[in-house]
Amino acid sequence: MGTPRQRGATVPPTTQKAGMDIVIDRDKCMGAGQCVLIAPEVFDQDEADGRALLLVERPGTEQHEAVREAHESCPLGAITLRES
Ligand code: SF4
Repeated sequence: MGTPRQRGATVPPTTQKAGMDIVIDRDKCMGAGQCVLIAPEVFDQDEADGRALLLVERPGTEQHEAVREAHESCPLGAITLRES
């Protein structure tokens, strides 16, 4: 039987990181908009050509999960994430 702190503690996922940098390769992007649908506070679409725009280069931790999902959903691999 552990201490109350041990019993009540939650273990953060090992994938959880403090910092995240995002880069969009606009030459690869075809403007499918998946990233904008998944994380609209981080990604937007250029009105001129429909390709993705980055609204936030270093999103807060509350946005990391959505950004990872957007990264995995991009059909062209145009989103690069660097987590530290
Ligand atoms: S999901 Fe990928 S291809 Fe689609 S708009 Fe976003 S960066 Fe561009």
